[in-house]
Amino acid sequence: MITVIGLGFVGLTTALGFCSKGFTVYGFDIDQKKINQLRKGKIPFHEPHLKETLKSNLNRKFFLTRDLKQALKNSSAVFYCVGTPEAPNGDANLQYLLAAIQETLKKIPQNDFKVLVIKSTIPPLTTQNQIKPFIERSGLIIGKTIGLANNPEFLREGRAWEDFVHPDRIVIGCSDPQSENLLKNLYQPFKAPIFKVSFNTAEYIKYLSNTFLATLISFANEMSLIAHSIGDIDIEEAFKIFHRDKRWSGEPANMSSYVYPGCGFGGMCLPKDLKCFYIQTKKWGCYSGLLKEVLEVNSKIKQFVVKKVMEVADKKETIGIFGLAFKPNTDDVRESPAKDIMKLLWDQGYRNIVAHDPIAIPNFKKSYRFRAQYHLSVKEAIKKSDVILILTAWNQIREQKGLLQNKKVLDFRYCLKNS
Ligand code: NAD
Repeated sequence: MITVIGLGFVGLTTALGFCSKGFTVYGFDIDQKKINQLRKGKIPFHEPHLKETLKSNLNRKFFLTRDLKQALKNSSAVFYCVGTPEAPNGDANLQYLLAAIQETLKKIPQNDFKVLVIKSTIPPLTTQNQIKPFIERSGLIIGKTIGLANNPEFLREGRAWEDFVHPDRIVIGCSDPQSENLLKNLYQPFKAPIFKVSFNTAEYIKYLSNTFLATLISFANEMSLIAHSIGDIDIEEAFKIFHRDKRWSGEPANMSSYVYPGCGFGGMCLPKDLKCFYIQTKKWGCYSGLLKEVLEVNSKIKQFVVKKVMEVADKKETIGIFGLAFKPNTDDVRESPAKDIMKLLWDQGYRNIVAHDPIAIPNFKKSYRFRAQYHLSVKEAIKKSDVILILTAWNQIREQKGLLQNKKVLDFRYCLKNS
């Protein structure tokens, strides 16, 4: 049996993923509203396949409980999937993770060896220097009376299910053989290579991945800015030709969507992880100017978007924002480019704003209080807009070429030409 603590994108996918491999999973979250929704078979965010999987496993293999003691009773492993958001100084905020661990430790009986598995993203040195001593202060001995492991998650929102059940690699950072064996057995049905590494290495691999992806996006955006300055460059064509390089294609090395310009990276992970890792580099005495630049390009690209709008639209015109989610096929609006761009437009005096997104409008309205006319219908939104800004490459907008013909269109995702 397994316990999953924190039932957001990662936790719910983890819980249901293990159910799909035959394990019984207890899920716990402090957000009672979320638990109630899940009990009714509703997923509080958009993620393909989870609803059906929840329905088929709920109260069979997957049990939701408010009682942490019950959730832990027969488990051999406890997966922590709580948020580690950005702290005011840019560091990873460990408050939720440490609170969840503390609550768990109070409820685990003596002489009941369980592995505590950190799935939340935390920077290198955190398990070693903070979590391990935190657990040991309660009298437990890591490797003897309790196990500890770091098991970073690489799933992508929008493809979370596919990524979790067909992982390309499993990384297990741990120091004791008992935890290692237990986790290897749990992951064995996923038929992916398992890499046992140190705590620091496991933590580092996650940031290696996210800083790299963010760097690729900023690289492509920086290059698009240069191309705009040079002029007479077909950016869409140039990048599509660039992608013909064999090194970009083929499974599973399909990285081309990262090396493609847009209006900045967003979402839950890349902005905060990049900032966090960058800040750590100062502490580690290896300050990374490259990562600083990657972050700066992410702001610069949004200022560029607004500058382009100002060149073609006067303040009385209606600006249509197409795409509120940070990427297509998700309703996640955290750190979405639309948020910053709408604010910058407002600061410049644009008051007539229309916004469309096929699924992210409710989340956007809940998270940010922008005065805009929100339209679920893409056609309606196009009709109401004088200038169209494409901020997310949703198919819904790409399919409206006819309607867009007589509008001023700024395609900041470079997605219309070859669609
Ligand atoms: P999320 O905000 O969607 O979910 C976190 C959940 O934890 C929430 O439901 C919250 O109520 C719950 N929670 C907070 N404190 C708790 C406590 N003390 N006890 C029980 N539940 C508690 O976050 P997420 O997107 O699932 O991300 C979780 C972690 O995984 C983060 O560290 C993130 O960086 C990392 N991660 C995220 C992704 C992604 O694509 N979202 C991918 C890989 C890794």
